[in-house]
Amino acid sequence: MTVTELVSYEAALAGYDPVMGLEVHVELGTKTKMFCGCSTELGAEPNSQTCPTCLGLPGSLPVVNAIGIESAIKIGLALNCEIAEWCRFARKNYFYPDMPKNFQTSQYDEPIAFNGHLDVQLEDGEIFRVEIERAHMEEDTGKSTHVGGATGRIHGASHSLLDYNRAGIPLIEIVTKPITGAGERAPEVAKAYVAELRELIKALGVSEARMEMGQMRCDVNLSLMPKGSTTFGTRSETKNVNSLRSVERAARFEIQRHAAVLESGGTIVQETRHFHEEDGSTTAGRIKDNAEDYRYFPEPDLVPVAPAREWVEELRTTLPELPRLRRNRLREEWGVSEHDMQSILNAGAVELIVATIGAGAPSDQARKWWMGELARNANESGRALDELPITPEQVARVAALVASGDLNDKLARQVIEGVLAGEGDPDTVVDKRGLKVVSDEGALGTAVDEAIAGNAGIADKIRGGKVAAVGALVGAVMKATRGQADAARVKELILEKLGVSEG
Ligand code: ADP
Ligand code: MG
Ligand code: ZN
Repeated sequence: MTVTELVSYEAALAGYDPVMGLEVHVELGTKTKMFCGCSTELGAEPNSQTCPTCLGLPGSLPVVNAIGIESAIKIGLALNCEIAEWCRFARKNYFYPDMPKNFQTSQYDEPIAFNGHLDVQLEDGEIFRVEIERAHMEEDTGKSTHVGGATGRIHGASHSLLDYNRAGIPLIEIVTKPITGAGERAPEVAKAYVAELRELIKALGVSEARMEMGQMRCDVNLSLMPKGSTTFGTRSETKNVNSLRSVERAARFEIQRHAAVLESGGTIVQETRHFHEEDGSTTAGRIKDNAEDYRYFPEPDLVPVAPAREWVEELRTTLPELPRLRRNRLREEWGVSEHDMQSILNAGAVELIVATIGAGAPSDQARKWWMGELARNANESGRALDELPITPEQVARVAALVASGDLNDKLARQVIEGVLAGEGDPDTVVDKRGLKVVSDEGALGTAVDEAIAGNAGIADKIRGGKVAAVGALVGAVMKATRGQADAARVKELILEKLGVSEG
């Protein structure tokens, strides 16, 4: 059946409790693929990073990537999971053109990590615990590009191109237990969970976890139970959602859609769904296969994985501070509100600010430049903050020049503009553009005298007690010095020369 009208979010929540399951795939940042020595570097000529193993040629044999296993264990430990003493890979059999072996090497009933949890912080500060079912290792597929159609989808395409460079890149799939009890906050929990997981993965150094580059993608499973019931309903699985905002929107849309179907007496079919960025809706994909359809069986070409307990414990000692705790610590050190910290996080500025402070800048200066001038520039040029051609050291240098009085804020902005334009280091830009605050009292004095002489009327008003009019004279001096004077000092000088005191 088709649903034309969604039930309002409030009405859906009044009648039902959502149950969610989140499956997150993370592409590991290993140099080579999971089962062969091919490079994982992005952007290479299609099919240039392949070999008999990742192309699935007869007779080729896989060898497991040790860093892949190590990364999986680190992720498992960071998610408070138990680490299997012994586990195997399994073949998941299905046909797809971008999967040349006709099976995906994955893990099935013997995942490397299981039974964990991740605590996530919601916007109001409350902690919500998400239980983790398992984290298992698998490999990515190749990439199909459908050519000739209007949408890039297979429908309407004249032909498809296949690139196997991605085939065999290690993936970790992290699967939650059914998330219940979140109620109307289910979409927020989903977003907070994926955000926290992303920060955790980055902190572990196992992947850059850039969602916009497909290094991390999320399947959102959702079902509804009538209020008061504890029996799960049938779930839908919205595939490959690739931004935090989309995760939240997909969950929200599915809550409304499920409610509409159920309210109209329909039944939910277990199927995959596609998410559409444009309007936040989902549409039906394929009817979900059951596990038995995949004919899973233990991979005979790979030895079991039996990580020594000493190794696991050694890896445990390398775990970084949890992102949530670190964030709270930094928030207190910097003295900012939850809300401001959230903005800093959303802007991807946390690490840049930390590095700028590390390079000697006071925290308020570091925050001010990254969240002000630089955030604006990034926004305008459609880049992420860390893609701007300026380093935390350079920002710290600008802050130092402001602190020493060599630059005022206005000049500092011009210096930053110069650095971003590739004119060199802050000091070079200052020299080349001649951007120093005029602090030579003689030169300032002359500029002030000229301003007074050129604006006799205003000067008289000030002498007569209208001190507020001093702004006009300060403006004249700033103009004459091309903004390079210290405005506060200029004001002092003017009042001094006119024999007026501010109080
Ligand atoms: P599959 O491979 O079929 O997607 P998985 O077990 O890998 O199955 O993932 C299913 C996800 O959906 C898990 O996160 C699980 O907790 C969750 N889940 C299972 N049943 C339901 C349900 N009825 N409603 C919502 N989520 C569910
Ligand atoms: Mg799934
Ligand atoms: Zn290969």
